[in-house]
Amino acid sequence: MKVGLTGGIASGKSTVSKYLKELGALIIDADKIAHSLMKPEKKLWQRVVEEFGEKILLDNNTIDRKKLGEIIFNNSKAKARLDEITHPIIIAKIEEEMEQLSQENDILIVDVPLLIEADMIDLFDEIWLVYVDQNVQVQRLMDRDKIDYQKAISKINSQMPLEEKKRYADRIISNNGTEEELKAEVMRVWQKIS
Ligand code: ATP
Repeated sequence: MKVGLTGGIASGKSTVSKYLKELGALIIDADKIAHSLMKPEKKLWQRVVEEFGEKILLDNNTIDRKKLGEIIFNNSKAKARLDEITHPIIIAKIEEEMEQLSQENDILIVDVPLLIEADMIDLFDEIWLVYVDQNVQVQRLMDRDKIDYQKAISKINSQMPLEEKKRYADRIISNNGTEEELKAEVMRVWQKIS
């Protein structure tokens, strides 16, 4: 079974993946794939530098994700361009890893933050959404990234609302409580499918 796990920024996808791994699921992390494809001189790195120029590079030639993030944050054309370049290459790599990794009876979880936005629903048997109320999400994001309220809320508001993502989800994993409660929630979903 192939599961696409999604949510919003700091909603708890990585934490849920960690618990699912402990239960025996195979995990693919789309962010890790994206990072590795963006390493200096890789094809995706070249395409992104071609498009946005060497000003997005740090001294060691790695892409300055913060700078790139700032460029696309308030520029929807630039964001669309970046998505156009990156999504097909990242999706192809995810599909390749899914094929290599999973056998018929495995439960394969693919953690993809932008699963719905990048139109990847059809790759999976089920979509699971890690859901948090916005006030909890803001607080966790502020704590994790050491940013203020305004910055956190503007990052959250730049994404598709979690309420909207709910419409695409086959299962919802609620993460408003403690980590122990989240663990129990993950176990509940796991028992339903295994
Ligand atoms: P992103 O996509 O932004 O990387 P994510 O959805 O993978 O984030 P996590 O990294 O799992 O989210 O969680 C975000 C932060 O909230 C982390 O610091 C994590 O330790 C914390 N966290 C997650 N769930 C809980 C919880 N139930 N109680 C307290 N803290 C939590």
